[in-house]
Amino acid sequence: MPYKRVLVKISGEAMQAPDGYWLDPQILSGVAADIARATAAGFEIALVVGGGNIIRGARMSAAGWIDRATADSMGMLATVMNSLALETALNAAGVPARTMSAVSMPTICETYARQPALHHLDKGQVVVLAGGTGNPFFTTDTSAVLRAAELRCDAVLKATQVDGVYSADPKKDPSAVRYERLTHDEAISRDLKVMDTAAFALAREQALAIIVGCVHPPSSILAILEGTAPSTVVAP
Ligand code: UDP
Repeated sequence: MPYKRVLVKISGEAMQAPDGYWLDPQILSGVAADIARATAAGFEIALVVGGGNIIRGARMSAAGWIDRATADSMGMLATVMNSLALETALNAAGVPARTMSAVSMPTICETYARQPALHHLDKGQVVVLAGGTGNPFFTTDTSAVLRAAELRCDAVLKATQVDGVYSADPKKDPSAVRYERLTHDEAISRDLKVMDTAAFALAREQALAIIVGCVHPPSSILAILEGTAPSTVVAP
């Protein structure tokens, strides 16, 4: 297997209920069961969860009544709520998991620090990395790449609603094709949006592989990592 320790980034929207409620317990337990299978298969998993099902700072501040840094702080808090929900679902699925937040809130969860996070991973625990980077003006894509580099992950798996990176929007263009493999430079030269610009620049600089695949059945995190479900791999 080319990857052993993988940082899985899940967007907040992927956990939203079909009726629009911000979390769906069934989706959460499905993701948790999927991660349980991946850890049982020998993968070491760190998770970064977005907050876009609750607040995205850029969008919120665009209305003009709140400044970006405050709205981003609210977005980071949203990621903590999602992380606690996922930690709960993981524990219920029998996976030892602990939330570590970049924003210190010791009465609620552990504060993120690199060495303890490495220690948890070495012991086979799943770490759920909350609070983004702890800084405004970033997204959880950037925290995913940053933490993957810090925690010696072999790849970032960006779990999305589509099964990879396409030449055009597959919902609008029937001739769109999915790329199996791309280099970071090819993704830039073809103007393919794999991740936001800051996150992608860091991944390229660190020569970190990014795998894009679908979270929803019949695909799964384990199947993507084992290469039996479709995906796009961006790697040097
Ligand atoms: N956020 C931030 N700094 C970070 C990570 C996230 O300020 O390092 C804020 C930002 O407002 C962002 C929100 O948290 O929009 C939720 O994260 P994101 O948009 O990445 O969530 P996703 O789209 O993946 O659900």
